[in-house]
Amino acid sequence: MSNDSITLSEKHGLNPSLTSCPICGKETGGIALMGRLKNDAEAPKHCVTSLFDLCDDCKARLDKEVLIYEMDRENNEPTGRYIFVPKDALKVEVPKGIALMDINEFKQMFEDETD
Ligand SMILES: [Zn+2]
Repeated sequence: MSNDSITLSEKHGLNPSLTSCPICGKETGGIALMGRLKNDAEAPKHCVTSLFDLCDDCKARLDKEVLIYEMDRENNEPTGRYIFVPKDALKVEVPKGIALMDINEFKQMFEDETD
């Protein structure tokens, strides 16, 4: 299979899934065409295609805040934890207002060390 084609599912055709916001789960207005998945499975009704594809409400928060995702660098996966930080609390400019941070740095910076 080449990367510029979608292999159709015999059972589910293009096998569409509605794209969702990785933060709140609200639909973002996109449709992902999954085609044939492993074991010819049906695509989930909703999916997150990108950590940067936020819904309008969450995007609006980026006017004043920066979104930081905790990442597990070993398998290059988000851990599911994130935090919004006021822009003026950071010394650096964050392109698009979204940053990825290694687990250890994230813990060091945002976890309470009193327990
Ligand atoms: Zn959202």
